[in-house]
Amino acid sequence: MFELKKAKCELQTILRGYKLLYSIDKDIIIYKALRAAIAVVSPYTTLYFTAQLISGIAAGKTFGQLMVYAALIVTINLIMSVLSRLVSRKIRIADQNLWNSISLYFNSVNMKMQYEHLENPATHLKRDRIFQAQNANGFGVMLLSWQVETFVNVIASIILSVALTLGLFTLKAPGEYHGMWNFVNSPLSALIILGLLCLNIITSIKMTGKSSAVFYNEIKNLADQNRVSFFYLELLGNYESAAEIRIFNESPLIQKSWLNYMLHPVYTTNIVRANARFARVQTGSGFVMNLVLYIFIGAKAYMGAFGIGNFVLYTGTVAKFVSAVTSLFDTFARLKNNNIYLREIFEYIDMPNTMYQGTLPVEKRAFCEGGDNDYEIEFRDVSFKYPASEEYALRHVSVKFHVGERLAVVGMNGSGKTTFIKLLCRLYDPTEGEILLNGIDIKKYDYDEYMSIFSVVFQDFKLFSFSLGQNVAASVKYDRERVKACLEKAGFGARLQEMPEGLDTCLYKDFEENGVEISGGEAQKIALARALYKDAPFIVLDEPTAALDPVAEYEVYFKFNEIVGNKTAIYISHRLSSCRFCDEIAVFDNGKIVQQGNHEELIADENGKYHELWYAQAQYYNT
Ligand code: ADP
Repeated sequence: MFELKKAKCELQTILRGYKLLYSIDKDIIIYKALRAAIAVVSPYTTLYFTAQLISGIAAGKTFGQLMVYAALIVTINLIMSVLSRLVSRKIRIADQNLWNSISLYFNSVNMKMQYEHLENPATHLKRDRIFQAQNANGFGVMLLSWQVETFVNVIASIILSVALTLGLFTLKAPGEYHGMWNFVNSPLSALIILGLLCLNIITSIKMTGKSSAVFYNEIKNLADQNRVSFFYLELLGNYESAAEIRIFNESPLIQKSWLNYMLHPVYTTNIVRANARFARVQTGSGFVMNLVLYIFIGAKAYMGAFGIGNFVLYTGTVAKFVSAVTSLFDTFARLKNNNIYLREIFEYIDMPNTMYQGTLPVEKRAFCEGGDNDYEIEFRDVSFKYPASEEYALRHVSVKFHVGERLAVVGMNGSGKTTFIKLLCRLYDPTEGEILLNGIDIKKYDYDEYMSIFSVVFQDFKLFSFSLGQNVAASVKYDRERVKACLEKAGFGARLQEMPEGLDTCLYKDFEENGVEISGGEAQKIALARALYKDAPFIVLDEPTAALDPVAEYEVYFKFNEIVGNKTAIYISHRLSSCRFCDEIAVFDNGKIVQQGNHEELIADENGKYHELWYAQAQYYNT
């Protein structure tokens, strides 16, 4: 009962895997099934018509009649071979695309994944494991695609073999027989032969199952070994870390660590040994079976139950039946072992996302004709703990701001500024309290729509190895004039003039020999231009001048109103002098807003945190 339940569960996992493969790339399933069906036709028609040909010769048919069989064999084989080639061409393309399609699928999963999971290192490990198993050993969805052909082939072979072999067990030799001959002619001998066939198949299944289990067990270790090994190899080949590796002479350390992992080829040795052991048992059992079968079929033919043609047919089809059934179970064993990897995939794609429950559209007030651009955000007694943390990162935060205002968020490192922004942008939901947009809880809005009203330059922003224009527009096609205007506003105008191919200059040298390496400050300006290009009503700048030199920093402050226009700007900084121009300053300390007001009001409170931070920093900056 338990075994049955387990088998059902395994089968459900395999079926879900195929559903997933179908949703990722249905062409590959269809074409492979088609090729398998085509491949099965030739050997069986050849076998069948060869048997007819031999029977015809024995029966003394005319040369012309015999040639019909020969022509049928040749023509069918030719047609099947042409069809197979045509389908194979499609499969080659589909096979090449499959890896990309799987990667694209996982990217779309990541895009929809709750941010909390995305930030969790355990999620990265899971994704790494899935791709290691796939890329190094072809497990997971990839293996399902490879098994489609075998599966369809063996099912078709079993059906055809049974259909063509029925006569062996039902046909009886005419006349009276005694002793051994009578036994051969009786239904009992047919039953015994069937029993022996089952026994041989079971032995074969057990052996392939065992060898496949050893293989998967060992390969599982190998996947982990590969993951670590790739990590070290990547480190050695990565030009971004090359400077540090040279200066600290880290190469021997990395190479040694890598070799430590690579010098244990025990896994493959274990697989080879196990395979040899199981193959010996399989060969032995196959030999006995074939011997008995040949004697049985030979004896029945000798007694006249069927002709010489059918002797050839039955020996062929029975052998094919045995090998097809063994292959079927072998395929199941492979698929069952592959379920370990499929479950990891399902675990990854099934990670719950509670962020998408909202349906309300966000009014695009800024963009619609005559729009009043009137947005108001309110944090109402918001507290927040990170999922894996016991400590509150934010406590009882209440703050309200209108569109068009400049809100500065200041505080020491770890005081909760970035967490505040993450909640504002709904990367996380508050543990307690609520955040309201125009009086409505932000959870009630459609998630993607809500995200569309924010533009953020994160402290650890990322630019990519695309062209400068594509980086700013975050899109392949873009409005060149608008991109230029945004770069200009962000203070990148003069540098743009020097770029060898203007907006088409590729950033970084990962893919383009002529790519341009940019400084941290330049990157920050491009990131700012990207935020401006999105043209969202809220713009959040997390330490936007941290990498800028003092002149560039001054320019950003000076032109801040021009840069931000009528948008709501939320400006995060631990440098108080850079927030002075904001209408409202919220001072964070230990997860709480401890003071709020404009610069003059806050500095006037001599016992306040702002006063303390201002004068602590004034020692270093002549503000
Ligand atoms: P700030 O931006 O002011 O430097 P953060 O908002 O980044 O501060 O951090 C506030 C607190 O939350 C800190 O104690 C920090 O360690 C903690 N924290 C930040 N990110 C995470 C995270 N992903 N998981 C757990 N704790 C975090």
